[in-house]
Amino acid sequence: MAIAESSFVTHLEGAIDGAELEPNVIQTLHEGRPIWVRYDLDAIRESVSRDDLLGRPSNLWRYMELLPIYDQSKIVSFGEGLSPLLKSPRLGATLGATDLWVKDESQLPTGSFKSRGMAMAVSMANHFAIKSVALPTAGNAGGAAAAYAARAGMDCYVFMPADTPVINQYEAIAYGAHAYRVNGLINDCGRIVNEGKQVMGGFDLSTLKEPYRIEGKKTMGLELAEQFGWELPDAIFYPTGGGTGLIGMWKAFQELSELGWLDSDKMPRMFSVQSDGCSPIVKAFEEEEKHAEPFANAQSMASGIRVPAAVGDFMILEAVRQSQGAAVSVEEARIGEWMRLGMSQEGISICPETGACIGAVEKCLADGTVNTDDRIVIFNTGAAQKYAEALHCEIPSVDKDVPIDWSTL
Ligand SMILES: *Cc1c(COP(=O)(O)O)cnc(C)c1O
Repeated sequence: MAIAESSFVTHLEGAIDGAELEPNVIQTLHEGRPIWVRYDLDAIRESVSRDDLLGRPSNLWRYMELLPIYDQSKIVSFGEGLSPLLKSPRLGATLGATDLWVKDESQLPTGSFKSRGMAMAVSMANHFAIKSVALPTAGNAGGAAAAYAARAGMDCYVFMPADTPVINQYEAIAYGAHAYRVNGLINDCGRIVNEGKQVMGGFDLSTLKEPYRIEGKKTMGLELAEQFGWELPDAIFYPTGGGTGLIGMWKAFQELSELGWLDSDKMPRMFSVQSDGCSPIVKAFEEEEKHAEPFANAQSMASGIRVPAAVGDFMILEAVRQSQGAAVSVEEARIGEWMRLGMSQEGISICPETGACIGAVEKCLADGTVNTDDRIVIFNTGAAQKYAEALHCEIPSVDKDVPIDWSTL
């Protein structure tokens, strides 16, 4: 079976009102809210089976029929995707879980899962012959966008809060982006990108302001299903900022279910994890609101989830509620501790955002929200080495000029 030669996209759809929108043109928001990509799943079911995947490339492009781009010559790629799914028994034992797994996105290009979304969005920008892209970022999106834009030969404009982790600032510049520090939060940066669009032209790559980053992130859900032999786990813990990862995965599970590719009807419970220093989604979940209020004085060392207002808030809350999961916040002050726990017990390069997820698993096991023998998956969305500030610690010295007292090491 050859990889798709034509797109199975039928239309785009406004997420807020279900309005049908034109597919093969540049779209941003509809009624100020995000847009879904919809596919002809019946046609996909007839043209490809899950066994056809076996001979395909070991990256996210193996799911071509379920992706918006089909012209191979337009794809901008570093071979991203198919990240390892690592059984994590030591960390599990410490937390009190017998079937704990980490899906390790730290190994993706530019060290975070952001590469999945950017692979799709920049490929689609390339499809539309766009020459310049722009985005606000609080962390990893800027570096990923800059790298993909460089690979595509596009200009890239990045605006980030001045306290964005320093590696994220450097990488955006090193990948050739026009990168700027802003004395504000990501929402302020977003406003600047929006203003600049009129002047600079270019494609707004902001989280959920174009339809395709969700489709890239959806592949995390497709991979999880395939890696577990087409049976989904009981619970997924996902750090939530703008929410594309969680929304995308939930969309993947619906599509797989409609395709008939899942061996069991069981859907995982989706847990949206935030720091108590910035937890707008948790607050809205607890208050049973459809939308989240902007979170005042947002603070977190986990920059990827320091998003005080998410344009797809209702989509995150819907996925969490439909899946009978929860939105959970954990103590900001303990994120570093959980991050080190995961790193030292499993040797996985855990980002602070995932540190928060480890804390959330601990909390949900303790209060009985999830069971000890549930199959639990934590997404490690980024690499620890991108967070010099969070890793900072005092390292003891050894003096080469005096005899070492080995009993003290
Ligand atoms: C962006 C980011 C997140 C949050 O992702 P969303 O899908 O936008 O909610 C989590 N972790 C890391 C490391 C990130 O870079």
